[in-house]
Amino acid sequence: MQTDVLVRRGILVRGIVQGVGFRPFVFQLASKLGLTGFVRNESAAVRIEIQGTTSQVEQFERTLRHHHPPQVRIEDWEATWLPPLPKEFGFHIASSDSGGGRAPVIPADLATCPACVDEIFDPTERRFRYPFTNCTNCGPRWSIIRGLPYDRPLTSMAHFAMCSDCQREYGDPRDRRFHAQPIACPVCGPQLTLLDSAGKLIAREAHALSEAVLAVQAGKILALLGLGGFQLIVDATNPAAVSALRARKRRPHKPFAIMCPSLESVGNWCHLGTEEAAWLSAPQAPILLLRRRQTIPVDIPPIAEEVAPGNPYLGVMLPYTPLHHLFMHQIGRPIVCTSGNLSEEPMATAVEEGLTRLGAVADLFLVHNRPIVRPVDDSVARVFRGRLQLLRRARGFAPLPHKINTGGKVILATGAHQKNTIGLLLRNNAIITPHIGDLDSPLTVEVFTRAIEDLLRFYEVSPDAIACDLHPDYASRRLAEELARKHDVPLVPVQHHHAHVAACLAEHHLEGPALGIAWDGAGYGPDGTVWGGEFLACSPVRFERVATFRPFPLPGGDKAARQPRRSALGLLYAWQGDSGAAHCRAMFNPQELEVLCAMLARGVNSPLCSSVGRLFDGVAALLGLSPQVSFEGEAAMELEFLARPAEGARYRFELQGQDPIILDWSPVVEGILADLEAGFPREAIAWWFHEALADAACQVAGRIGLKTVVITGGCFQNAVLSQLIVNKLNGQGFRVFWPEAFPPNDGGIALGQLVVAAAALEAPMR
Ligand code: ZN
Ligand code: ZN
Ligand code: FE
Repeated sequence: MQTDVLVRRGILVRGIVQGVGFRPFVFQLASKLGLTGFVRNESAAVRIEIQGTTSQVEQFERTLRHHHPPQVRIEDWEATWLPPLPKEFGFHIASSDSGGGRAPVIPADLATCPACVDEIFDPTERRFRYPFTNCTNCGPRWSIIRGLPYDRPLTSMAHFAMCSDCQREYGDPRDRRFHAQPIACPVCGPQLTLLDSAGKLIAREAHALSEAVLAVQAGKILALLGLGGFQLIVDATNPAAVSALRARKRRPHKPFAIMCPSLESVGNWCHLGTEEAAWLSAPQAPILLLRRRQTIPVDIPPIAEEVAPGNPYLGVMLPYTPLHHLFMHQIGRPIVCTSGNLSEEPMATAVEEGLTRLGAVADLFLVHNRPIVRPVDDSVARVFRGRLQLLRRARGFAPLPHKINTGGKVILATGAHQKNTIGLLLRNNAIITPHIGDLDSPLTVEVFTRAIEDLLRFYEVSPDAIACDLHPDYASRRLAEELARKHDVPLVPVQHHHAHVAACLAEHHLEGPALGIAWDGAGYGPDGTVWGGEFLACSPVRFERVATFRPFPLPGGDKAARQPRRSALGLLYAWQGDSGAAHCRAMFNPQELEVLCAMLARGVNSPLCSSVGRLFDGVAALLGLSPQVSFEGEAAMELEFLARPAEGARYRFELQGQDPIILDWSPVVEGILADLEAGFPREAIAWWFHEALADAACQVAGRIGLKTVVITGGCFQNAVLSQLIVNKLNGQGFRVFWPEAFPPNDGGIALGQLVVAAAALEAPMR
């Protein structure tokens, strides 16, 4: 038979194949099967050549494709038969070839693997208690990579010369640290220091860690230089410490995330399902929103109410670096672990910068000397209907590409204004940066500008087109215009809600047309009004606004996002003029109300909006929830948390007209006012409002008739609303999709902009 005939196979593998233990795996497999040949990193792929009998080669391919290491993701597999080489001995790992195009697939930073965790807690290991332990399966990646190919000289570990022990592990294909680029040990690697807020040295190494733990136990605020930037840490069971952090960080209400010592301990404070447990311990280790327990065991200290005031959820994560593992092991209690910034500013990533910007916030600084090349924040997610849904896409997920089929153009997308991320379309891979932030502060705009330069430099590309939001005043739009001029390429402005829907279509590889239900706070409409309650019949290349909500004015414009009472006033004034406005007397002092009503009467500084986010705000204000909030969406969250299932559907949006259908909210507002008057529980009113929205969505979907429906936009961070709509639509036979791998909020806009711009450039005419 053919079995002992010598054959040679050349295989080119693309995907997540560098920095994830792929080559050592190939080496071991080939050696075990007695194959000869080599494996080599190329900057766009891994090339393998193997030689042996047909059955050996087949077994190799089968095993490699289906039983590779956990972090490997094979996206493309090209195999060809080659003429066998007459004299070849053994299998080896050839040195990297840096030529030929930039690989779009860069591994994301990965949480410490179980083997490395065991090692740092094993007194017989040379990495016992070493906070920068890592291997080919875990550790920093995107946060330390300066360029490609991914090799040590092009990482921020370049200036640490390996000791002989590390060198041996690094060079041994049988070792799990073979070619682990960030390899380090106590002898040769980065070290910890503890500084006071003036930058004065307090302690080093193990002492630095113990002193930092003691300080946090004593109620102090610690700034910890983690994987992708500074984090601020306090004892989560100490109300005074958490309040002090809120005051100093200027963040009055927005929930803080906590880090728990272990998976088992999470169950003390939160309900934990199978999926949740799996995601908490996954290599991506996101912050997961978990439902809090109403009662906790008596011997367990409660999480301070100040951590997430009035919130039935807690954002929880587990330690994901050796430093966090050691810290949590020593402190043995949950800690608040939040991004190291002042409210609205970007995260600090360098020691000097941290001292300058956080010197007034933190008492102590636990830092290290492994430079962070680019900021990477923690990801935030929840499990929705059994699957992970990202609400902030960063560490562990970004910048892993998402494949989309387009014309192969290079497109840069500058994203939205809030929760900004940047997108790069490169060889049909959409690469989206980690969460950058809201572009309100000059510092964030600076980080945003640098991130764009970094992205283009890193992949060594120059864009064929720039995509941006339609809003003429966004910082992301202005920079896009500048870049389009500089590169002399077309600018493609993309309508905000079209981008929301297109992102979700692309994520699920849907071509459209689909009905996109895009509800959020605000997005610029082509008619110059504020959109945000949109039903779009959508494909990547075009959209038609088939339905929307009856517009209402926002007295004071953008101010309404922080003052839900202004939305209430806008609704009531639009409904019944001055007599409607009279219902808002309790929310304003008489002079304020008079001024705002005069503005509304003259139509001055009162832009019209169709925003469901503002509708939520208005209803929240009518129900007596916060008249003023510290972050957009806070009132809507309160309304969600207030809602308790109640019998019957009492409110109904009235569908009027055609092209677009207008959903009139006035019967709903009228019903709510009547029910408040009649003394119905606010919990039930909040529920009926959610139900009315879900019913309205269903009615519109029924009239439009497109069987595929996408729900997206910031409003769908609301789990009650999302569940109701999905259940109702599914019940009526619609196929419903929602964003999972990219956030439903504006963090998903950059992806949508790429998709729409690519389709627009492909289409000969719009
Ligand atoms: Zn490891
Ligand atoms: Zn070493
Ligand atoms: Fe939006």
